[in-house]
Amino acid sequence: MGKQTTFTCPECNYSCVVSGEADRGRVSITDTYVCRDCKIADDISVGIMTEENEKKMKLKDEICCNECKGKNIEIWDKICPKCDTPMKMTGERVVHWD
Ligand SMILES: [Zn+2]
Ligand SMILES: [Zn+2]
Repeated sequence: MGKQTTFTCPECNYSCVVSGEADRGRVSITDTYVCRDCKIADDISVGIMTEENEKKMKLKDEICCNECKGKNIEIWDKICPKCDTPMKMTGERVVHWD
């Protein structure tokens, strides 16, 4: 179970629904990245739990953008990937995403 937050850019109205930080469900671990090529922020799966135990996390060696499969990604700093304006939290919901 994770929490997702809607962020909206006050400038260009771009919005995305992401966890906004490192998060994990029962088996998958995600973190929020921004793709400089697609200009989107997205939760990217960075690893899996091999057991229901934090010490048994297995992180992926290579992660890539969900959309373009490219590697031009970095940890999202809550800055709009379209226009470089700080985005505002506009909603929150609890999701089951395993
Ligand atoms: Zn924007
Ligand atoms: Zn991309």
